[in-house]
Amino acid sequence: MHFKQDFFEQLPDFYEAVMPSGLPSPHWLAWSDDAASMLGLTQPNEQLLQQLAGNQRMPGATYYAQIYSGHQFGGYSPQLGDGRSIILGEAAGPQGYWDVALKGAGPTPFSRHGDGRAVTRSAIREFLVSEALFHLGVPTTRALAVIGSELPVWRETLEKGAITVRLARSHIRFGHFEHSYYSTGGSAERVKRLADFTIRQHFPHLDCDAAGYRQWFVEVVEATARLIASWQAIGFAHGVMNTDNMSIVGDSFDFGPFAFLDTFKEDFICNHSDPEGRYAFGQQPGIGLWNLQCLAQALTPIISSDVLLAALRCYQPMLVKHYLQLMRQKLGLPATEDETRLSDDLALIGAFTTMLEQQGLDYTLTLRHFAALDPSATHSTLRDQFVDTAAFDHWLAQYRQRLGTIPDIGLWQEQRRQQNPQYILRNYLAQQAIAAAEQGDTEPLQRLYQALRTPYDTHAEFTDLACRPPAWGEGLIMSCSS
Ligand code: AMP
Ligand code: MG
Ligand code: MG
Repeated sequence: MHFKQDFFEQLPDFYEAVMPSGLPSPHWLAWSDDAASMLGLTQPNEQLLQQLAGNQRMPGATYYAQIYSGHQFGGYSPQLGDGRSIILGEAAGPQGYWDVALKGAGPTPFSRHGDGRAVTRSAIREFLVSEALFHLGVPTTRALAVIGSELPVWRETLEKGAITVRLARSHIRFGHFEHSYYSTGGSAERVKRLADFTIRQHFPHLDCDAAGYRQWFVEVVEATARLIASWQAIGFAHGVMNTDNMSIVGDSFDFGPFAFLDTFKEDFICNHSDPEGRYAFGQQPGIGLWNLQCLAQALTPIISSDVLLAALRCYQPMLVKHYLQLMRQKLGLPATEDETRLSDDLALIGAFTTMLEQQGLDYTLTLRHFAALDPSATHSTLRDQFVDTAAFDHWLAQYRQRLGTIPDIGLWQEQRRQQNPQYILRNYLAQQAIAAAEQGDTEPLQRLYQALRTPYDTHAEFTDLACRPPAWGEGLIMSCSS
């Protein structure tokens, strides 16, 4: 790996230097060829293993934990920071630079009472979800590898320590700006330095002046709206949308108790620590705005309130626009700029998801039937999913009217196949792969990972990976950090 150290060199008071504690008996549990190619790496090897385990120094790397704050479940936590993640710098790849972070590498100055570790279970989950979201076309941080070890780590029971090697366009969070603002009593200097760095690194088409700051915030609002629209369309619940888990470049970030929907359920909660459902699936669009408001407050020293409020007002229409675009593609509704269609189409889509919810249907598998649908036919495998066929037929009549005629049904169905995945990372599948990996068998993990790499293709050998969960695996709820 070849590193540059822009964050380390330009923002010396935004991190603490810290070395990884090392992992005994490290071994590869997972490796992503796709992520490796982004760094120009080919094969995993022993030296790289020891370096990423934190047992040997990586040439060119610095080692540091970033400082940030954040609103957690609505309340402000002034001092967070990387408690179990150590960044090595920005590694060069054929298409650009990637922050490389070792998540679970041992304590840092921000670990508070934590051990700075991650367990095999959570490391594998982060690996799988990063790669799964990427192949589904959702903006996300990536995962190069999972390194397992014999290190005993206590959670509810004794588990083993592991490291996820995370690659990110940026590790800068909304919470970095909140820390800069609140820790200085709202002075402009620190916020401005961080904003200027962020713009130079990640929004290089903008200037660091009033007009540039304004446009930058508009683009952050838009990236966030796009991100959350894509979560809602694919049926993904993040689970812990605290502002310290919100990436400034709009990537899915910092995975914990996330879940993909099995049965469609608007108020689905995947986080054991969230009994009130602040971060329930259907709350995510509103929470996105709430989080952007926290960011906006932190930017008041460099951007006027009027400008910030005007940008925030664009969030909801932007999110709706992107969501509608994604859902129209799933259902095969033609794109149109006709504004009057907007609310009609939203209503049609909403009526469909309401039917799924009322009839207890699987979100992903039901949508996949659009790939085999002939909307003019009386019978279809889609219709067969519904118990209340009268409700479905009523909906289909309205849908047909909106569709009009389809010139090439084969092409239309192929397009639906490319928009409605067959394979998603269901929690029960992750759970099975993890249980095997914990017993030393990584074959199920490999298989699941392979299916998730091409989620829109049907593979006969992966039939069992495109099923509804068994009773034990429906709506699994996970705990927060592990
Ligand atoms: P998360 O829920 O993973 O986003 O974590 C919230 C905060 O707790 C972050 O500042 C983490 O760095 C910190 N944290 C979580 N788990 C640990 C751990 N095992 N040791 C130290 N800090 C942790
Ligand atoms: Mg976090
Ligand atoms: Mg974290």
